[in-house]
Order: sequence, then structure tokens, then C-alpha cells
Amino acid sequence: KKITIAIDGFSSTGKSTLAKQLAKELEYVYVDTGAMYRAVALFAMQNQFIGPDSFDTKGLVDSLPKIQLEFKFNAELGFAEMYLNGENVEKQIRTIEVSNYVSKVAEVSEVRSKLVEQQQAMGKNKAIVMDGRDIGTVVFPNAELKIFMTASAETRAQRRFDELQEKGDNVSYEDVLKNVVERDHIDTHRADSPLVIADDAIEIDNSYLSREEQFSAVLELIND
Ligand code: C5P
Repeated sequence: KKITIAIDGFSSTGKSTLAKQLAKELEYVYVDTGAMYRAVALFAMQNQFIGPDSFDTKGLVDSLPKIQLEFKFNAELGFAEMYLNGENVEKQIRTIEVSNYVSKVAEVSEVRSKLVEQQQAMGKNKAIVMDGRDIGTVVFPNAELKIFMTASAETRAQRRFDELQEKGDNVSYEDVLKNVVERDHIDTHRADSPLVIADDAIEIDNSYLSREEQFSAVLELIND
């Protein structure tokens, strides 16, 4: 039986790692909704709608029809990459600059409704693992399985720091921690679809769980 799996939680809790593993195992489609918000943030930066001390919300909203987002599967990597208006932006959307702006962009209701609509269309036929912040609450409130992932801010910042270091991004641990805490705050306090745990979600705190432990715990839930 094909189901819809919604994985929500704070940033850098290992949502995407788990979601990718599940999609591979079950032969489901994986959708990283954070990549979509990141691509919109990149578009806003490239078109000077957002900067260090400015955010032209109206300019961005008026330009939304010009933003075309697409996931293209990369067989070599084993997952889909994000394309913004035909350009592969997978690398660009993972930078700290985009991370610093993305939550502000994700606060805009018009941005959210555009992306939620696309996400719902992608999940029409089930057999999907989608990760984000509002998947179990807004995008697929009827998902058969909802997971909510948490971990301490320090654990998460350390993870993201290690990832960025590996990519050669020269940032300090303190800046990464600051970004993680700031994004948590914006995500949980925004007016439209704030990050909350769905009533029927299963919470996994992975500060102390290995990838394998998490993965097998969730597989058991699916097979129940
Ligand atoms: O998952 P990731 O950390 O890449 O997401 C980047 C940002 O996009 C989040 O911090 C959040 O502000 C926003 N987001 C969202 N709703 C989603 C996915 C991401 O608001 N479903």
C-alpha cells in the first residue's frame, strides 16, 4: 500500500537524511520543500528584493508568477536537484547567505500558498516522502505517517557546521548556531503556518540516536 509520509521538524535535525533513506528503501519520491523556499529566497536575493537591511515584500510577491521551480532527478547523486527558472541552483541554495534570508521569505503568505499548492500536486499519487515544517499540518494533514524530528540547537548547529566545513564554506560555529536559533524563532513565531507539531505526529529526538537507529524505528512504524 502506497502512503504519504510527512517529516517535519527544526532545521538540521536530520530530516532530509531520514527522508532520503526512506524514499530509497520504499521506492518513493522524495521532496525537500526547504529547497523550494531556499530557491525563492535566492530569487529574492538575485533581484534585490531582499538584502541586509531591506525586504521589498511587494516586489517579491508581484514577481512570484515569474518563479518556476522544478526538481530534476540526478541518477548519479540518487536524489533530485532544485532548478530555478531552468538553472540548477542546488549548490547556491545551501549557502549561509541563503540560510540567513530564507525564513524571512518563508514568512510571506503568498510565497507559502504558491509552494504549498505545488507540493500538494506532487503528492497527488501518494508514494511520497516530503520533508519541511508544515507538511503534516498544512500540506498533507491526512498523511498516513507523520514524523516530527527534534534535537538540541547545539547538536544541530554542530551538524550544519560540519557540513559547511566539508564544502569549504568558511563560517564559524557561533554564526551557524546563531542562524539555527534565529530560524527556529522565526519559524515558530510566524503568523502563517508556524512550525508546530501535528497532534498525530510521532516525535523523534535524534540528539542521541544514530542514523541507523532512527531509520529502523521509522521502518517499523511503516510496517505496523
Ligand atoms: O529545511 P531547510 O532548513 O532547508 O528549510 C529552510 C527554511 O525554509 C526553513 O528554516 C523555513 O524557514 C523554511 N521552510 C518552511 N516550510 C517548509 C520548509 C522550509 O517555512 N515546509
